[in-house]
Amino acid sequence: LFMQGGAIGENAIVPMNLLGAKTSIDFINTGEWSKKSMKEAKRYAKVNVAASDEANGFTGIPARNTWKLDADAAYVHICSNETIGGVEYHFTPDVGAVPLVADMSSNILSRPVDVARYGLIYGGAQKNIGPAGLTIVIVRDDLLGHAMPLCPSAFNYAEQAENDSMLNTPPTYGIYIAGLVFNWIKAQGGLVAMEAHNRAKAAVLYDYLDESRFFSNPIARDARSLMNVPFKLKDANLDAEFLKGAQARGMVQLKGHRSVGGMRASIYNAMPVEGVKALVAYMKEFEVRHG
Ligand code: PMP
Repeated sequence: LFMQGGAIGENAIVPMNLLGAKTSIDFINTGEWSKKSMKEAKRYAKVNVAASDEANGFTGIPARNTWKLDADAAYVHICSNETIGGVEYHFTPDVGAVPLVADMSSNILSRPVDVARYGLIYGGAQKNIGPAGLTIVIVRDDLLGHAMPLCPSAFNYAEQAENDSMLNTPPTYGIYIAGLVFNWIKAQGGLVAMEAHNRAKAAVLYDYLDESRFFSNPIARDARSLMNVPFKLKDANLDAEFLKGAQARGMVQLKGHRSVGGMRASIYNAMPVEGVKALVAYMKEFEVRHG
């Protein structure tokens, strides 16, 4: 479905459509975006935190065998890539018969995904797909038709599906650009090629972070994001100088989110490996000067 309202909108639209006769939703809390999803869902359902990495400062994905799932939950919600924290699932969790729902806003189309293992996938288009204003939802047919009576028609998945996502005027320009991006991805060799590209790119940065004694990344190796790489300088007093020098070299938006501090390199599909190499060259220079 081509929707509107962004992923924040979907945080409300998903429970409105999927709760049905159930009363609670299981959430895996891996960071800021999981928390935002839970906050919104609380308006519609009982939120059960089945697992959380908060006590570890959101540096990994809680091991699947620690999740306390409720067999009667409407669905299990995960955020497949925590954009702010830089934590990503590198596996698809098995949650049995309960549908798995994923906020894939920041890693959709970065690598192949077995869509059939999910009940629903959603995401804003503005990272790997196209312009802001378009929201993608992939939903299993049998999950359609259970919307709450108060759900607006424009946000009712069944109604949108019946109308080929044109129940109301769709964001046509965004959909057009998304089409160009889909063709571009195919021309690159599809998602298998995107994954190889993204792995090679992220490795340039993580390899340097691991050898550096000045910069560091706190995320567990098996949960490191290929899209968003947070890192810290040994001395936070040098953050401003680091950002200034980066800007002078044409590298912008490196400041980390205020909830985690430090830096964050967002290296979505569109970022070429040369961009990451330029960042690492600058970091090495900075380390020699200040390390
Ligand atoms: N979820 C994730 C994982 C995100 O990265 C973002 C945007 N940064 C959102 C939700 C919110 O998306 P939107 O701005 O499209 O509502």
